[in-house]
Amino acid sequence: MGKPKVGIYGLTGCAGDQLNIINCEDELLKIFDIFEIESFVMASRAKNENVELDVAFVEGSVSTEKDLEHLMEIRKKSKILVAIGHCAVFGGVQSMFMGKEPWIERYKKVYGKENAVTLTPPLEPKPLAAYVKVDAVLPGCPIEKEPFLKLAGKLAHGIVPKVPDFPVCAECKWKENECLLLKGQLCLGPLTNSGCGAICPSMNIPCIGCWGPIAKENWESEALLLLEKGYKPDEIVKRFAIFGGTERAELLKNFLESHQKQESGK
Ligand code: SF4
Ligand code: SF4
Repeated sequence: MGKPKVGIYGLTGCAGDQLNIINCEDELLKIFDIFEIESFVMASRAKNENVELDVAFVEGSVSTEKDLEHLMEIRKKSKILVAIGHCAVFGGVQSMFMGKEPWIERYKKVYGKENAVTLTPPLEPKPLAAYVKVDAVLPGCPIEKEPFLKLAGKLAHGIVPKVPDFPVCAECKWKENECLLLKGQLCLGPLTNSGCGAICPSMNIPCIGCWGPIAKENWESEALLLLEKGYKPDEIVKRFAIFGGTERAELLKNFLESHQKQESGK
């Protein structure tokens, strides 16, 4: 059996995830040894777009028609499509929740008119899963070296892993960190998916949610915990909106508002 054929691609984003793959330095030769890298424009001009891929890693959100076209081409030729980085998995900061105003109004405020950028027509920024089937995800802003290598190792053995479905707090507790919430800091660990090893709280920095929201069943009770700690709903939503993606932040806002209405009616 030959080596798995792999392509690494970027849509709209900062390219930080591809850069962090290159930053694997010591392990990079092994990656190139295990996989047949067919396309990775950040690392090599040599590319072969006419082959079927076993695995495609895609970073960035779908924010233009060109992105969408590119994503469709990648999906068509790939057995496994992996969304890497927050933009690809949740939409990134470009899809942050900004209230009810349609995104095109915000676009016009920035560029003056709807069709200001003519290179490729813009679309409302969305994660890959809004358009195609995504087989595996690796969140993070940007992705971290260790989780990426673990993921690549599993994929090389034909295993398609899932991200853990428990919050950063669990990893934080395993490291025996003192909880930042108890010290009065708004840490989004209770609402954020684990996998990063609780890097930030381990350095006394509150989690800002870059691994994205945990499953709905958990975040409602955790949001209430933040309310109990004295944080205002707007403050929680505003912090979460940056990385939570439009849909989840809106749900969080509605949930907190209805909870407050219930409480005031008692
Ligand atoms: S510091 Fe943050 S991540 Fe750690 S336990 Fe407290 S709330 Fe959770
Ligand atoms: S602790 Fe939070 S902000 Fe820091 S890397 Fe992990 S998920 Fe991202």
